[in-house]
Amino acid sequence: MWQLVSITLYGGAPGEIGGNRILLEWPEHRWLLDFGTRFGQTGRFFEEFVKPRGATLGLRDYLRMGLLPPLDGLYRSDLCAHDPAIFGRYKGHSMYRKVEHVDGVLLSHGHIDHLGCIGFLKEDIPVYTGLMTALIGKCLQDPNPTRVDGEFNYLVPRDSKESGEILEVRKGPRVQRQYYVAETDPALGAAMEQLREFWSWVPGERSSITAKPLEVRDPAKMGLRFWRVDHSIPGSGAWGIETPIGWIIYSGDLRTHGHSAYRTEKFAKEAAALKPALLIVEGTRVPALRTVGDEVLTEPIVQQACDDVVRQTKGLVIADFTARNIERLRTFRDIAKARGRRLVITTKDAYTLERMHVIDPNIPTPGDDGIAILKEPQGNTPSWEKDVCEKHETCFVQAKVFRQRQRDPQRARRVHPLSLLLGHQQPDRHGARRRDVHLLRIRGLQRGAGD
Ligand SMILES: [Zn+2]
Repeated sequence: MWQLVSITLYGGAPGEIGGNRILLEWPEHRWLLDFGTRFGQTGRFFEEFVKPRGATLGLRDYLRMGLLPPLDGLYRSDLCAHDPAIFGRYKGHSMYRKVEHVDGVLLSHGHIDHLGCIGFLKEDIPVYTGLMTALIGKCLQDPNPTRVDGEFNYLVPRDSKESGEILEVRKGPRVQRQYYVAETDPALGAAMEQLREFWSWVPGERSSITAKPLEVRDPAKMGLRFWRVDHSIPGSGAWGIETPIGWIIYSGDLRTHGHSAYRTEKFAKEAAALKPALLIVEGTRVPALRTVGDEVLTEPIVQQACDDVVRQTKGLVIADFTARNIERLRTFRDIAKARGRRLVITTKDAYTLERMHVIDPNIPTPGDDGIAILKEPQGNTPSWEKDVCEKHETCFVQAKVFRQRQRDPQRARRVHPLSLLLGHQQPDRHGARRRDVHLLRIRGLQRGAGD
């Protein structure tokens, strides 16, 4: 039992990249600092087409394989409706304990290794975060609304099936988790108003939702601080928590070489002024910034290296990055424009970017010059995608265009910016370029910590 303050790391350390789940508690309060997916542990047992059986077995595979810690009372009871005695089997486990009440999750940003397991948590545990991160979670869920490990925003309640061995989706509304926006900037008010209807909307012709509108909560009034920091996904933040031993600072993921470096610097100054008792800092590359030769790797260097490849490639170029990395998206949009190509994104990207643009008008939208959307043949168009199709009808590029122009897909050039810079790929000999070929953004085959 703790004396004053207890901190337990259920992921993200030691030596683990991402998968952050930190339980910070003292007699009066209990906070979770992020509750992300542990990619390393997940990858030991599962891969692209072999997933934990969450839809039918709820928590069972996740507890058994160590993907969730056996914290009795922390998770949704409907995910063990078919197996109510499940925690009884973990009483001898070194990590087993009861967790009675959690004040909330202090979520730093929208990468899966920080956000990914929030859907498993009891439905009355709220999430405190920035507006952009709250929105990203919803945009990620809407295209796949009923995946247990993707219920970042609204829960799809389950019941035990008649046989009592597996779960099934309960008929009735989705249940939205309460999100509190920890930013008090009045400029965000207009965006929140514009997004109000979207926030309470759920995809699916026959689906309804028990909505919980977004609310602003001033962290200062709760013994908390929230600072925006520079990272590869917009809206990232760091947290400060006032505890009986003094301020504890949790950085989340941060960097100082992006366009918002000033935010990280402001955070560092203001956090230092609190004279914190403890700093929990994320650090994939703390000792040194990544360099190429003597130069620190910055976005302009990435742009130059990628541009060289695009310039020297005749056919299709496949760029491997997530579109939520807005700086990288702008980089490839600009390369595409400069080389007479178009950057083609997916409908999921378009769906998310359009909403992010409401909060930050500097974020590119599908209608922007140089950006097109891939139209793939499909039978039924889901409701979230219909919206994209109707709004951006003129921006679509048919999938068959790629087939016609890139007859041998294996000859398409795949650009992974970092491996390229580290010299794993050599520029090829094609000097000529064609103005009518495209640059396709494709989601990475490997999921990673997203730096
Ligand atoms: Zn991150």
